[in-house]
Amino acid sequence: MSEVANKVVNQQVILKELEEFEISLFMKREDQIHPFISGNKYRKLKYNVLKADEQNTQTLLTFGGAYSNHISAVAFAGKEFGFKTIGIIRGDELGRDLDLTLGQNITLRLAYDHGMKFKFVSRSDYRYKHTPEFIEELKNEFDDFYLVPEGGTNDLAVKGCKEILKDDDGVFDVICCAIGTGGTISGIINSVNKDQKVLGFPALKENFLHKEIEKYTTDDKNCSLIRDYHFGGFGKVSVELITFINNFKKETGIPLDPIYTGKMMFGIVDMIKKGIFKKGTKILAIHTGGLQGIDGMNSRLKKKNLELIYK
Ligand SMILES: *Cc1c(COP(=O)(O)O)cnc(C)c1O
Repeated sequence: MSEVANKVVNQQVILKELEEFEISLFMKREDQIHPFISGNKYRKLKYNVLKADEQNTQTLLTFGGAYSNHISAVAFAGKEFGFKTIGIIRGDELGRDLDLTLGQNITLRLAYDHGMKFKFVSRSDYRYKHTPEFIEELKNEFDDFYLVPEGGTNDLAVKGCKEILKDDDGVFDVICCAIGTGGTISGIINSVNKDQKVLGFPALKENFLHKEIEKYTTDDKNCSLIRDYHFGGFGKVSVELITFINNFKKETGIPLDPIYTGKMMFGIVDMIKKGIFKKGTKILAIHTGGLQGIDGMNSRLKKKNLELIYK
């Protein structure tokens, strides 16, 4: 997998509706690193897995929601690198009938098939997951493990994300990245040169991410958060967004996920159309992956009788 990670391509994005604006837009296809370990999740896990190995720990334990790209990534990484994995999953109702849950949720199904063991906890308990008391309880239940935080962000994750940009990417004026916890963009901020601007697109409604990013970056002055494209919150979508994702795929061949990269690209295209970037600007958007989440989203859209995302 590290072979593939070293050979990620920047693919030019050509859209008819952007022709007149004379902006050059590329996507870094980190999604192609692995079909299930989202590009950025691979980067975030890399040094954590090495650390767990160094500590002779046999088990990775982490937290996530039922459709989480991170849960999926940890399960696959565990299988690939020889660790047992435990997922602490939000929603105790999901644990009542595991077969039913696995029949309805492809993210958990695949994680399970890759050997992940689950502990389902109530939404209220889940809120305390990072407290010492909760961790202590987990230690009693599961013995020794290497803890990967929810979303995978820690210092080692940020270190891994510093490897996303390569020397050749110095030609771009603007680097764009979707944000969940802020780990990925922090690595990018730490690796850009001083003339480059970083734009972050939060996938959730928030006013705290700039603080999270500050924790992991030495100098984040070259970064701005664009808070207009969360579509109502984490995991929320609109018909307009789904139509955009489908048209984008048709026109460019690049699949986008509805939680992160779809929202970011919608935002970039909208900003270009509004004339926010000056002529000749070179933009590189990071395709962080997340494509495993499309099936889960489609089953939600189907229930509401809405247009599905083509694959
Ligand atoms: C997790 C994830 C992100 C967000 O990464 P953070 O480091 O949490 O900000 C972005 N895109 C995709 C596809 C993801 O799975």
